[in-house]
Amino acid sequence: SLTIATGGPSIPQMGATRYAYEVAKTFGMQITDINPGLVPLRFRGEHEAFCRELSGLSIPCTVSCNNVTFKENILFTHRGMSGPAILQISSYWQQGQKIKVNLMPDVDVIDFLLGEQSNRPKSELATVLSSVLPRNFARAFSNRYRSNKPINQLSGKDLLSLSNMLTSWELTPSGTQGYRMAEVSLGGVDTAGLSSRTMESTTVNSLYFIGEAVDVTGPLGGYNFQWAWASGHCAGQFV
Ligand SMILES: Cc1cc2nc3c(=O)[nH]c(=O)nc-3n(C[C@H](O)[C@H](O)[C@H](O)COP(=O)(O)OP(=O)(O)OC[C@H]3O[C@@H](n4cnc5c(N)ncnc54)[C@H](O)[C@@H]3O)c2cc1C
Repeated sequence: SLTIATGGPSIPQMGATRYAYEVAKTFGMQITDINPGLVPLRFRGEHEAFCRELSGLSIPCTVSCNNVTFKENILFTHRGMSGPAILQISSYWQQGQKIKVNLMPDVDVIDFLLGEQSNRPKSELATVLSSVLPRNFARAFSNRYRSNKPINQLSGKDLLSLSNMLTSWELTPSGTQGYRMAEVSLGGVDTAGLSSRTMESTTVNSLYFIGEAVDVTGPLGGYNFQWAWASGHCAGQFV
């Protein structure tokens, strides 16, 4: 028997290769699309500059794409965003799509802004926002995306648009940080060509594929290790 356990192409600097896919193709087996997963996202232009300015700062929020939402932290980086919420959503995001960030998922934002407008009308927007968001973020956000006026100078329409931006901030990543930074590779040897009982190829006797080489990907939280160990254990019963 031959068991292929050479993983996917993520982190080539640690020895990752596409060897498993080459072997599968040699034997006429199907490979699905392969993409980097659990990977930081990149931005261009003003969003990249904004992220760089806040590099190292982390904010709890929700991030959504393709009807999937994760409630975890985002982390601003020199090139874009990372952190668990972004790594998770990157496995669902496709090139050209938007992601939606809710920076205040546990706050009724319009209620909060109206309350602040009557409680401390002369406070600048950045000061108001820094009571619920990190101070550096509140200042950078107010300066870059909204004029940092005293809150009593914002109309009802302004507050509504600000609330929308804080709860549905739409960003279009320019790409991912690629396999160099990806914790997993999405896709792999098509599971339709493998026995789910033994991990043996359904077309080539005694050829087994296990772990990340196979088109099985989990979210953050140990599921990818678990799959590698469980599929290896499974094949080990039969080789
Ligand atoms: C930075 C990082 C953090 C991660 N954190 C987590 C986590 O917290 N939880 C989790 O569940 N998963 C995590 N993962 C994913 C997890 O490590 C993998 O899904 C899992 O290790 C896959 O196991 P595998 O045995 O299939 O492949 P791998 O562990 O990738 O092992 C494949 C081995 O084959 C070798 N190889 C490749 N090509 C060849 C060749 N041609 N000849 C000889 N050898 C070759 C590689 O060098 C490697 O040693 C993380 C991955 C990375 C990169």
